[in-house]
Amino acid sequence: MIILEDRQALNNWVEQSRLWGGKVGFIPTMGALHEGHLSLVREAQKTCSQTIVSIFVNPTQFGPGEDFNQYPRTFAEDKALLEEIGCDAIFLPSPDVIYPEGGQTFVSVEPLASQLCGASRPGHFQGVATVVTILLNLVRPHVAYFGVKDYQQLTLIKQMIRDLALAVDVVGVPIVREEDGLALSSRNRYLTIKERQQATALYKALMAAKSLFQSGETEAIKLEKAAHLVLHESGIEQIDYVEVRHKETLACDLTVVDPVMLIAVKIGKTRLIDNMVLSS
Ligand code: AMP
Repeated sequence: MIILEDRQALNNWVEQSRLWGGKVGFIPTMGALHEGHLSLVREAQKTCSQTIVSIFVNPTQFGPGEDFNQYPRTFAEDKALLEEIGCDAIFLPSPDVIYPEGGQTFVSVEPLASQLCGASRPGHFQGVATVVTILLNLVRPHVAYFGVKDYQQLTLIKQMIRDLALAVDVVGVPIVREEDGLALSSRNRYLTIKERQQATALYKALMAAKSLFQSGETEAIKLEKAAHLVLHESGIEQIDYVEVRHKETLACDLTVVDPVMLIAVKIGKTRLIDNMVLSS
């Protein structure tokens, strides 16, 4: 496995990989890798001849007071995990490789970027859309892999790729969960034992809404209420949002047909998100 730190080294690898033919699969990450990230790599390995993971804690997607400085940086472990599963390359840029001095251009996907997580994290999705565009232009993959865990991010990236006619296929990979349902996240390591216990309520809340929907309830507000109740019962007080949206467009509807439920909460200082398509 090769580690590429600058644009020239990356470009040489990309040229070589494209010369060999076959597909290049790309998995953008912020590191602190876990089984969720590895499932993206495994998915890529099914159809791509070369897989490349980027590890970049992107400063522009963190707001003031967020956890950019505390975000776990565990490169030695990440490298070992990727090596073990046979990943071909890691792109490990420093901020100036991604954002050379004098940059003036940002990618904004509106109004999608201002809703849900975007409402409480202004600028977050502009940072995500911009870094993903830069990474896609540098890596030039045939296929890029993103987790369904970050549902709004995946929806926004699909929209952006369509709008900008970017020449890449996007694959969404299902959420990997712990046995008790908690979605794997690099931020789970911030949780205390008690908070970790409380965090299982997100999955329970989603399951409660799902079973209500599957028993015939289609009023968004009632589905949201059912999930709220579960969160409250577990003692989670800082609920950012519990929303039922259309699963493709994320549009709001009073009565839902093909819904996804999205949840964001804070447990202590840790912000957690989760989601579930209620109809599947
Ligand atoms: P991150 O490092 O948090 O930016 O995540 C990198 C990619 O891994 C994103 O596309 C995430 O959606 C995906 N991902 C993170 N956690 C999970 C999970 N539990 N299951 C599946 N994909 C995940």
